[in-house]
Amino acid sequence: MPAPKPAYERVLLKLSGESLLGRQAFGIDFRTTQAIAQEIKEVHALGVQIAIMIGGGNIFRGVRGAAEGVERVSADQMGLLATIMNGIALQEALEKIGVMTRHVSALEIRAIAEPFIRRRVLRHLEKGRVIIFSAGLGSPYFTTDTAAALRALEIKAGAILKATKVDGVYSADPLKDPKAKRFNRIRYIEVLKRGLEVMDATAISLCKDNKLPIIVFGLKKRGNIQRVVLGEDIGTTVY
Ligand code: UDP
Repeated sequence: MPAPKPAYERVLLKLSGESLLGRQAFGIDFRTTQAIAQEIKEVHALGVQIAIMIGGGNIFRGVRGAAEGVERVSADQMGLLATIMNGIALQEALEKIGVMTRHVSALEIRAIAEPFIRRRVLRHLEKGRVIIFSAGLGSPYFTTDTAAALRALEIKAGAILKATKVDGVYSADPLKDPKAKRFNRIRYIEVLKRGLEVMDATAISLCKDNKLPIIVFGLKKRGNIQRVVLGEDIGTTVY
């Protein structure tokens, strides 16, 4: 039987910091991180070029620090450092199972990660290295979702794969409202108008202006990253 054909040649996978939590309330669960790495390896083996934008919410979020009185810029810098820590953990997990990676940080931290040089990143992808982007855009007041959108455009990814706790975009919070319904497809403008929690408005607008599809799907079920990459109709496509 021929190998299944991926729907995308190159994708940007957005992993929130929370995806590394496992059952913990805080920090990095290495077993969970290893399991995600295994899924990424399987998708990579299909010949798909993968760049990952890793979040930091499992460790620190700038808005939370700001709410507790830390100056916002400093709080965001702490959030940015949290993403770098997650990036190291994910890189470790991938390399342990034989996946070649490059960690690319938007903040200069040369002993740990490369700086972002677009053509160099493209070359890495062509050579089959998985890219781990950390430190978002390197500037405060942004999120790693917006960074994911920008980097996806820069590297010409076919889509952003946004892994979440729930299995798509709902009309209301499915954990609170039993009547909430999942959309198969939804337009960017609807997401913005209804204030649906997909990605922040800056990220959605950037995708909208450049017609970059976002596929929101649940990470809990094993094999879902592969299902999305193979074009199976799971989750919600924002178009
Ligand atoms: N952050 C930032 N600039 C960026 C990306 C992230 O200042 O370009 C900070 C911000 O404080 C944010 C934290 O890093 O709260 C962690 O990122 P994010 O909340 O996007 O992580 P996720 O929700 O995906 O885990």
